[in-house]
Amino acid sequence: MVLYYADRDRDFGTRVRLFPQAPFLAGFTEPEVVWLSPPAGSIASGPADDRMYVVDAINKDEPYAFPYLPPYRGLARAPVEPDASGHFAHLPPDSRDFLAVHMYGSVRRVLDIFESYLGRRIEWPFQRDYPRLEIIPLIEWDNAQSGYGYIEFGRFSSAEGKFHAFGLNFDVIAHEMGHTILFSLLGFPTSGQMPLAFRAFHEACADVTALIGLLHFDSVLDRLLRSCRGNIYTINELNRLAEISETKQIRLASNNARIWEVGDEPHELSRPLTGACFDVIVYLYASELRERGLIPSDLWSLAFETNKIGAAADDVSSAFARLYENRHFAFKAALMEARDIFGRSLVAAWQTLPSDQVTFEAFGAALLSACSGISGEQHLDEIREIFRWRGIEIPSPSPSFR
Ligand SMILES: [Zn+2]
Repeated sequence: MVLYYADRDRDFGTRVRLFPQAPFLAGFTEPEVVWLSPPAGSIASGPADDRMYVVDAINKDEPYAFPYLPPYRGLARAPVEPDASGHFAHLPPDSRDFLAVHMYGSVRRVLDIFESYLGRRIEWPFQRDYPRLEIIPLIEWDNAQSGYGYIEFGRFSSAEGKFHAFGLNFDVIAHEMGHTILFSLLGFPTSGQMPLAFRAFHEACADVTALIGLLHFDSVLDRLLRSCRGNIYTINELNRLAEISETKQIRLASNNARIWEVGDEPHELSRPLTGACFDVIVYLYASELRERGLIPSDLWSLAFETNKIGAAADDVSSAFARLYENRHFAFKAALMEARDIFGRSLVAAWQTLPSDQVTFEAFGAALLSACSGISGEQHLDEIREIFRWRGIEIPSPSPSFR
């Protein structure tokens, strides 16, 4: 059987290369080939397509802020051209053109993933004024932001004084896309005000979007599982999510924060909710392993207990390591399934939550409801317990709900 026909190349989509994590972090020196949904040849130079376009501004030293908004009208570099077959995977990673493609490819990738969870096109929350998202890969600014009709990234200097573009950080881009997708599916509060709980909820969801995006890289799944021998309850690489934490947006997914321990700044307050979402993915993963007969029931419950009370962690890890031996791909399939059950539940919850009544508790209830629609009622008590441990008490469903 031949699966790869050169003359059918365009049907498979367009190739780009993305860094799963910032390239100067150990182990991520090579970008990974990723296929984007637009057929090869359909993405114009820029890159640009029907949803978004890159404009590589020259010396833009003022970030957008109302009433300064797109379109960008200043000087810009020439648009990046595809190769002869319509792909964009041919550029050297240290080039400015690569950065433009990396921004475009990361945005497009996150959109592809979340449209796939939703099963339909995600309209831009700013579509009334802008049919397409404007992407500016590098401006003279030490931060990154997305806003009404645009996403623009600056650069920062490392401890050694080297300049690094934020646009090479997939997780930072995915975080910004998380805000945009959430505004599309959830909407804006009708009052026009964004209360603290709404903003903290947004930050948590943006970080979880980045986490789900990362878990779609083969290399991330492989490294993650191999480094912890299948037991992602313990130390893992995901908590390096956006290690470049100089930007205000970035928080860790794997954390132990509880609601009464954190302050009331939105990013700070988001941490228990981000942590709860991470724990739910890990829990679903262990449950998939159990259902597939890859771990026994007693290890499954011990792992869940360990995560909550910190007992017997070493025993759990060595038991996992023995079972993981020669089973990498089976464990990987379970993790992908857990990721996708969570991803589908997440977008369903975003759609059902009223934008005027966003609380962590209401989100928890919406997530539970979505999850039971997707994978039955088997996980509800544990998910409720995961939220409770964080200090988020999910209200009991009304009788009509069940
Ligand atoms: Zn943010």
